[in-house]
Amino acid sequence: MALKTSPPVFRFAPSPNGLLHLGHAYSALLNFDTAKALGGRFLLRIEDTDLTRARPEFEQAIFDDLQWLGIKWEEPVRRQSDHFADYQSAMGKLEAEGIVYRSYLTRSDIKRIVEAYEAKGCLWPRDPDGAPHFPGRQHEEQNAHDGDSYTVRLDIDAALRKVGRNLFWQEASDNHFSKVTNVMAEPAKWSDIILVRRDAPASYNLAVVIDDAIQGVTHIVRGKDIYEATSVQRLLQELLGLPQPAYYHHSLICDDNGRKLSKSRDDTSLASLRAGGATPDDIRALVGLTGG
Ligand code: GLU
Repeated sequence: MALKTSPPVFRFAPSPNGLLHLGHAYSALLNFDTAKALGGRFLLRIEDTDLTRARPEFEQAIFDDLQWLGIKWEEPVRRQSDHFADYQSAMGKLEAEGIVYRSYLTRSDIKRIVEAYEAKGCLWPRDPDGAPHFPGRQHEEQNAHDGDSYTVRLDIDAALRKVGRNLFWQEASDNHFSKVTNVMAEPAKWSDIILVRRDAPASYNLAVVIDDAIQGVTHIVRGKDIYEATSVQRLLQELLGLPQPAYYHHSLICDDNGRKLSKSRDDTSLASLRAGGATPDDIRALVGLTGG
C-alpha cells in the first residue's frame, strides 16, 4: 500500500505597509504557480506586526491586486496582529531558558558606543544589512531604567551554546525544489537580534518562524533579500522546537539602475500599472512568468 503523503504548503506573506509592486507580483505568482504544479496548497499571510506602518487600505490593496492577478488563496487569511498571544508564548519559552534579555539601549546609545570604539582606529563588526552589531548585554546595566521602553533581544552567544552544534537549512536550486543543498546557518553574523520591538510585540524574525510552523508551511519561496535572515530563523526554529521548511530564495526584480524595487516608488506598483491599462498577462510577461 502506498504511503499517503501530505501536499506541500506554500505561502506569500506581504506586509501591508505600501502598495505591492512587480517584485511582489513575481513572488506571489511563483508561489501560486508552483503550488499548483506540485499539487500543493497556497496560503496568504498578512505580516502586520509593525503596527506603526501597517494600514488597512494597504491590506485591502493586497487582496485586490492578488485577485486581479488571478491568484486564489485559502481562507481564512492569517493576520499576524490577530495572533500576538502566539508570539508571547514563544517568548515565554525563550525567557525560561534565560537566553533573551531586555535592552534599553537606544539607537543613539549604540551609535555612541560604536563611534567611540571606531575612533580608536578599529572597525566595529556589521551585520549582513550593514548595521553595526549590537554591543551586547554587558552594556545594558548602566542604562537600564524601570519604566523606560525596551526591546527584547536574543543573547546570541547563550543561544548558540544552548544549541551546541552547527545548524543547516535546505536551499533549493529552483522553485520546484528538484535539487536541494544544505546551507550552514551563520546566525552570529546578526549578533543579538531583536525579538520584541519597542513598538511591536514581535519582530519579523520571531513571527515568521512561528507562523510558518502553525500554518504547516513546508516550502518557502521568497526573495534573495531575505536569504541571510534565514540563518537566524533557522536558529529560532531550533530553539523553539519548530519544524524546518525547505527554502528557495528567488532573484529580485530590479529597476533600471539595478536596485531592488521599493514600495515607496509608485511607478511600478501593480495598482498604477493596472490603472495604466496593463493586464494580468502583461504583468506575467513583465516578470518572465508566462502561461500560469
Ligand atoms: N513580510 C516579508 C516582506 O514583506 C516577507 C517575509 C517572508 O517571506 O519570509 O518582505
